[in-house]
Amino acid sequence: MTNKNEEKLKFSAEISKVLQLMIHSLYTNKDIFLRELVSNSSDACDKLRYAALTESSLMEGDSDLSITIEANKEQKTVTITDNGIGMSREELIANLGTIAKSGTQEFASKLTGDDKKDMPLIGQFGVGFYSSFMVADKVTVVSTKAGASESFIWESEGLGEFTVTSTEKTTRGTKITLYIKENADDYLDNFRIRHIVQTYSDHISFPIYLLDEDKNREQINTASALWMRSKNEVSEEKYTEFYHHVSHMMGSPWLTLHNKAEGKLEYTSLLFVPSSKPVDLFHPDRKSRVKLYVKRVFITEEHAELVPSYLRFLRGVVDSEDLPLNISRETLQQNPLITKIRDAVVKKFLSELKKKAESDENEYKNFWKNFGAVVKEGLCEAYSPREQILEACRFNSSNFDNDTLASLDSYISRMKEGQENIFYLTGENINSIRQSPQLEGFTSRGIEVLLLSDHVDDFWVNVVLDYKGKQFKSITRSDINLESIKSEKTDKPEEEKAEAPKENIEKLCERIKSILGNAVGEVRTTQKLGQSAVCLATKEGGMDFRLERFLIEQKQIAAAAAKILEINPKHPIIKHLAEKGNANIDDAVWLLFDQARILEGEEITDPAAFTRRLQSFVEKSLAA
Ligand code: ADP
Repeated sequence: MTNKNEEKLKFSAEISKVLQLMIHSLYTNKDIFLRELVSNSSDACDKLRYAALTESSLMEGDSDLSITIEANKEQKTVTITDNGIGMSREELIANLGTIAKSGTQEFASKLTGDDKKDMPLIGQFGVGFYSSFMVADKVTVVSTKAGASESFIWESEGLGEFTVTSTEKTTRGTKITLYIKENADDYLDNFRIRHIVQTYSDHISFPIYLLDEDKNREQINTASALWMRSKNEVSEEKYTEFYHHVSHMMGSPWLTLHNKAEGKLEYTSLLFVPSSKPVDLFHPDRKSRVKLYVKRVFITEEHAELVPSYLRFLRGVVDSEDLPLNISRETLQQNPLITKIRDAVVKKFLSELKKKAESDENEYKNFWKNFGAVVKEGLCEAYSPREQILEACRFNSSNFDNDTLASLDSYISRMKEGQENIFYLTGENINSIRQSPQLEGFTSRGIEVLLLSDHVDDFWVNVVLDYKGKQFKSITRSDINLESIKSEKTDKPEEEKAEAPKENIEKLCERIKSILGNAVGEVRTTQKLGQSAVCLATKEGGMDFRLERFLIEQKQIAAAAAKILEINPKHPIIKHLAEKGNANIDDAVWLLFDQARILEGEEITDPAAFTRRLQSFVEKSLAA
């Protein structure tokens, strides 16, 4: 029988995809459907409590917010009822028929059809409601929005469409009925339900009641805000459950930080660092996802920016005792108390991070691999505690293999006598940086160079000038004087270290400059090189190659500045050219210059000429 009011609608493409996965799910832990529905009910109660702060009539008649679960063995149904905010007709359609979040398409395109890979994604994207189709072949949702005078029924078998019908007004909130599948009978058992709630949802701060056959109700969770309990009352399992609830992530957190601040600023924070990267880590919004509560009342997840964007991987809650309950979400970001809480949270977090790094470098490496690139964004921000962030930073280093990371403090402890700077080199990836000729003179002298390959590295090195009094310096700078640094390491016999006579070298530099003309800004000697004859360098105070290329791509600057060509006075080719000259000197110089450009990832201006020259050299060497 079709109802006049009934409206038949199709699920959006992404939801259909998610539903397919749910219906055919081989996912072993089907229990989580209940966790997801209870979690939604809890959010709905939070939302109502917040709305009632400014409009108390919304709670009228029923101000004890709670969640009730009932199983009916005869009808084979499980119902989850809450007296929270409820949903209007439009909300039922929008919330339970489409994914209205940004990044939806990207999310859907990441779904592979492989349960193992998809479930963590689905969880993080927050489509928990649909997990009910793992255990039910039909779901009805009856909902009455707080303050509204009508109620609606949403119904679906999870197969592409759903219906929405208006119905007689019911009490405020939402009642979800699951028609349990044949093979999922055990969810009709109260013992099982109690066990699941106690395992996954004990931390929910509203009471969860279980009804027996005679409709007697029994509260089955502790129902006090987990973060308000003292640390020794909370087991690791409870923390992990709560982490799943606030983060939508699976597994255990990498770090749990539970802290109560007293004194001038009074707040409690329970924050988690995930053990893997959340899917939206590099989403353009870069929003913080730490929830703000005021005296146990949920205020907002999105508007507060309780942690800065460079700590946006943090999940959890901050509950303030000082903020007024009637605070408006819109003005939160400018609220001086929020700024103070943010500063305190950052400070505390960074100092805990330091402790963690000191206690177990290996574990710390896992954190750094996931979030190091994000943390370093903080170095570019004007008001961040740069020194503390730099203390937390770890880098690949020319002294160690790819798997070993160095802190700046340890770098400083290894600096050579006469070494003033913290040397670094940036590039696309660690292995290609290791091949750079720029490094030769440093490694042969045992002078350590930090190898930086994250995109953000090109930026912060221009903003942060020093660490503990030692200036950062890119080894592509032309003014580095390696001779003034004392080093014990020499891996070459003396005679190979001889240079061509100074005069000849000076003349050669002039000659090279006249051959290359405006293609180079300057030609000079360097001690930086070992096996290589030449390399490119930038002026002191100039821009590094990668940053310059990035800014050109972004059309921020029009063209690259002319580079400095540095030559190695000990190299056989240079010595030959300096002492004996050569009829082919023009071609040789252009070849050397182009080769240096290729190594730096710069474009060569005339590939045809380059190829012609190379070919003629190969021909000559084969003929010789
Ligand atoms: P998520 O909870 O992560 O947003 P879901 O698919 O579980 O994703 O739920 C979608 C939306 O439906 C929720 O964001 C919420 O707006 C709404 N919703 C779900 N359950 C309820 C409920 N019990 N009461 C009110 N709104 C609800």
